[in-house]
Amino acid sequence: MNAVTKSPDPTRCQLQPGDVLLVTDIQNDFLAGGSLAVAGGDEVVPVLNRYIAAFVAQGLPVYATRDWHPPGHCSFHAQGGPWPTHCVAGTHGAAFAATLTLPPDTTVISKATSRDREAYSSFQGTDLDSRLRAAGIRRLFIGGLTTDYCVLNTVRDARHLGYEVFVLADAIRAVEVQPGDGRRAEAEMTSLGAHSITLNGLAA
Ligand SMILES: [Zn+2]
Repeated sequence: MNAVTKSPDPTRCQLQPGDVLLVTDIQNDFLAGGSLAVAGGDEVVPVLNRYIAAFVAQGLPVYATRDWHPPGHCSFHAQGGPWPTHCVAGTHGAAFAATLTLPPDTTVISKATSRDREAYSSFQGTDLDSRLRAAGIRRLFIGGLTTDYCVLNTVRDARHLGYEVFVLADAIRAVEVQPGDGRRAEAEMTSLGAHSITLNGLAA
């Protein structure tokens, strides 16, 4: 009953000024038919759309991150990296899903834009932290792809930077290079002090 095990009840949470929604890597290459399709990845899009609507209704900001690699990025197989070619800047594969209803004033954060640098965290090599601080953001609500890479690493950095973090448990999916990676990532995020919520836990 105690400590680190995930509670079956989502944290209930009232949105407030200082909150931001961070939509992580909802790009065609990570969805069905993409070069690095994540199992169940498409399922998170309608759920994220509902989170987006909730944030927009409260006048709260929405940020969207994207993998935005140059051709020949170090993470690609051809360069000895772990992944197939994906999310090359400006290509259809790198575009946000057409079904994702981002508001027109969404702040877009591009990451891993240098050929010889990988970045799983949306804070790594970007101005995300300074933008959030300038906007007075204290609580970060993060969903998207993937649980065991970009979501996990972004949550790690966010916690180290002192943000309160809510992981959208119903709007994340894992790559699962090793079976169980997603579950382990969720456990680590919980151990870092991130809260886990679902749409039902979000009080209007
Ligand atoms: Zn990538």
